[in-house]
Amino acid sequence: MTPLQALQKYFGYSNFRHSQEAIIQHVLSKQDVMVLMPTGGGKSLCYQLPAVLLNGLTIVISPLIALMKDQVDSLNLSGIPAAFLNSSQDPDEQKDIAIRLKNNQLRLLYVAPERLFGKDDRLMTFLKTLEVVQIAIDEAHCISQWGHDFRPEYLMLAGLKNEFPGVPVIALTATADKLTQKDILDKLNLHKPAVFISSFNRENITYRVNPKNNSFNQLINFLGQRKEESGIIYCLSRKSTELLADNLKDEGFAAEAYHAGLTNDKKAKNQEAFLRDDVKIIVATIAFGMGINKSNVRYVVHMDLPKNIEGYYQETGRAGRDGLPSDALLLYSPGDAIKLRKFATVENNAEQSAIMLKKLDDMVGYCQLHACRRQYLMQYFDEAFPDTCGSCDYCLSEFVKFDGTLIAQKALSAVTRLKERFGVTYIVDFLRGSRSEKIWPEHKELKTYGAGADISKADWQRYLRELIAMGYLRVTDDAYASLKLTAKSELALKGLQKVELISSQTTDEKEIAPLDF
Ligand code: ADP
Ligand code: ZN
Repeated sequence: MTPLQALQKYFGYSNFRHSQEAIIQHVLSKQDVMVLMPTGGGKSLCYQLPAVLLNGLTIVISPLIALMKDQVDSLNLSGIPAAFLNSSQDPDEQKDIAIRLKNNQLRLLYVAPERLFGKDDRLMTFLKTLEVVQIAIDEAHCISQWGHDFRPEYLMLAGLKNEFPGVPVIALTATADKLTQKDILDKLNLHKPAVFISSFNRENITYRVNPKNNSFNQLINFLGQRKEESGIIYCLSRKSTELLADNLKDEGFAAEAYHAGLTNDKKAKNQEAFLRDDVKIIVATIAFGMGINKSNVRYVVHMDLPKNIEGYYQETGRAGRDGLPSDALLLYSPGDAIKLRKFATVENNAEQSAIMLKKLDDMVGYCQLHACRRQYLMQYFDEAFPDTCGSCDYCLSEFVKFDGTLIAQKALSAVTRLKERFGVTYIVDFLRGSRSEKIWPEHKELKTYGAGADISKADWQRYLRELIAMGYLRVTDDAYASLKLTAKSELALKGLQKVELISSQTTDEKEIAPLDF
């Protein structure tokens, strides 16, 4: 059977999506692969289909016991024999699975990492006697301490390649920036892995950030137009999820809370009710959502600032898996950023603190953005996205844009003349011809000094922010935050690209969070 035939026969789909086919080919030829694909992209198929075609057992390592059952049920329904092993099963059930494994009757076995590498090594010893043909590691970012969902038990997976030499490993995740990607590859000891990165753009999601002032009223306003629709509302604390769920119930919404402090029964009950559409709204901490495969979530609201873009993007990605238009709304207050900054400082670990703070800064930068949000997000994930999206709050709002090429050229030449060694404040003062003593005397001799005196300080700051967001400039990561030119800068400097800026008169401050440098 060819992969395409298996796709049609077992999964009922007519075509592969994205890079699914290429990934599957790699696994079939026994190569290690790492797959980065957005939530809802179709990762599971990348190992489930080889599992059908290869003669032997595929071990799937997955972090959440609760989710294994759903996956296994749906495989069995498609006629693919699969099982999971976890602590919720009684000895008879486990024995039965062992017998089926021994008789080569199962294609996939789901197991948690701590079960496989725990103190009791009987399972490992047993599995090594079987014909293991593939190992899939789901939610592979959990291995990275830099990621937002580190699970120490994932570190044990470093031993996989030793335990199963020659068996191809496929590591999958929906969320990993460059650093996390590198970490996954290093820690798993993958052998010459092929890396597949799909576009992370989720076209059907509209991104919005509103300044948070009266958050409950803002939420009720937003929900007012979405009464019949399903959504997830994220809060920072457990307590606020319960409080908000209660308040929403008082307003007549079918809402339930979800957080790690609830009993397992209660969690399962609320999750079930949400999946069945009995409950329309789940008010949750970030504990909710991993692996939730509900296709018709129409919106995701963040009542509080997320800690980093990866987490935020994964959470918003739970909306619109069915491809229909969906909304992501974030309520931003600078106070949240101050609060999170304190949390981000990890005791006795300067390196990790610095990374977490940088990630928080990028998140704040997103909230304060005066440019296309999708472009910023794609840039964050190192994905080229040359045009504005037309479907974020910035692109949808009625800003009057004007040809700001000349302004951009002034800013870019200032950066060039100042040898890319200064930050926003200095450059603005320089452009405006400030008489301040802070401006170096030799800089006052330069041609660009004072070239932008006709533009206010606030406007210059905004323009520079826009130029950064559009990729005409970048800011260094160090304490100097100096502005540097980019590959795009030259296009603007030579007049090869028109640069559109927002006219200050018509900026609708109600819609977009205020800037604060
Ligand atoms: P992920 O794990 O990447 O979040 P899933 O593997 O759960 O995504 O897939 C998301 C949805 O897309 C599922 O409903 C799945 O059945 C469907 N899907 C996967 N591959 C295809 C395909 N080639 N054609 C159509 N639908 C697909
Ligand atoms: Zn946009």
